[in-house]
Amino acid sequence: MGNITHELKTPLHSILAIAQLLRSEVDGVLNSEQRRQVEMILKNGDSLLELITHLLQYSDLESGTRRAQYEEFKPKEFLEELRLTVEPIAQKGGITIEANFGQLAGMFVSDRRLLRQAISNLISNALKFSPRGGHLALYAATLHDGSLLVEVADSGIGIPQEAQEMIFSEFYQVERTDARRYGGVGLGLTLVKTALELLGGKIELRSEVGQASLFRVTIPNAPERLKRRRILVVDADSAICLALESSFRKEGFEVECGGDADRIESRVAEFRPELIILDIRGFDASGVRALQHTTASSWGRDIPVMVMSSVDGAKERSRAFELGAADYMVKPFDLAELLARVRLQLERVTLKSVA
Ligand code: ADP
Repeated sequence: MGNITHELKTPLHSILAIAQLLRSEVDGVLNSEQRRQVEMILKNGDSLLELITHLLQYSDLESGTRRAQYEEFKPKEFLEELRLTVEPIAQKGGITIEANFGQLAGMFVSDRRLLRQAISNLISNALKFSPRGGHLALYAATLHDGSLLVEVADSGIGIPQEAQEMIFSEFYQVERTDARRYGGVGLGLTLVKTALELLGGKIELRSEVGQASLFRVTIPNAPERLKRRRILVVDADSAICLALESSFRKEGFEVECGGDADRIESRVAEFRPELIILDIRGFDASGVRALQHTTASSWGRDIPVMVMSSVDGAKERSRAFELGAADYMVKPFDLAELLARVRLQLERVTLKSVA
């Protein structure tokens, strides 16, 4: 499916990019008829892109192969980011967005991508079904039980009472008497509902025709789903082990630390780490062998190996990267920097696993 996504989206992206280039008139001024034609290409291209995205997300969710990937994040940052990405679309449609995220607290555990998919579909509907000059209100709060509440309210055309249950069914669209064409194929809300079900959440709707619609989403916080990520540290220095174990555990990682680079294969087999930190001291033979052995093997080549070394030389760094190291840190290291680098590596592992 990943391939098909690419095949469908790549040519469309380039069509849209070229149309945008034409509209920007960098290569020559357009006459009014040509400008109108370019706008039509862009409008229809955007609809097609939305359609393809919806169909692909739909087949992904409906096939049942999509499992929720839980991670911890700050809901406030997550929603601010989302708001920033929709702001230009709202501006283009002459709609003002008012956001109130003041009641959001701390961290939250859920599938960020699914949540983003759900909320952004609600927002794009709110924008699509609101006239110019309309308002979109985003409200979010952390509830007493830790759940996340998100409301998307618009001042749009509203949804008749009798259609309010049906709109969550696949391919359902409310019949409109107005002349405007809204596009879409009736999959957006099906996707929202399926994604929320996967996260144990729910959605409620209140709407009045010609006035407003309000979609209220509640998603449970799921810290118990958080897979503690495993880091194997190969370091013979017991003081370093003590320091790393304590700070990594505080950050929510599972960690195992010890020397003996020659036993790396069996330690990986037992502990199944997602990341290895390997101390190769002054480019010792046993350290280099362990690095080579891991990155070239079937059991280790997908696990990033961060090398820790006492030598700070360009030659050694290049040699380590040539041997497949994912990162290179010099001892004595700064703990905060190490943690940041560890997070970056783990983030890449996550991205790879969902790609
Ligand atoms: P579509 O991609 O066709 O918009 P959806 O599943 O997202 O499909 O929505 C189904 C139908 O529900 C839409 O066709 C529209 O009639 C109605 N609808 C959804 N959101 C809104 C909204 N915010 N305001 C008015 N009508 C809405």
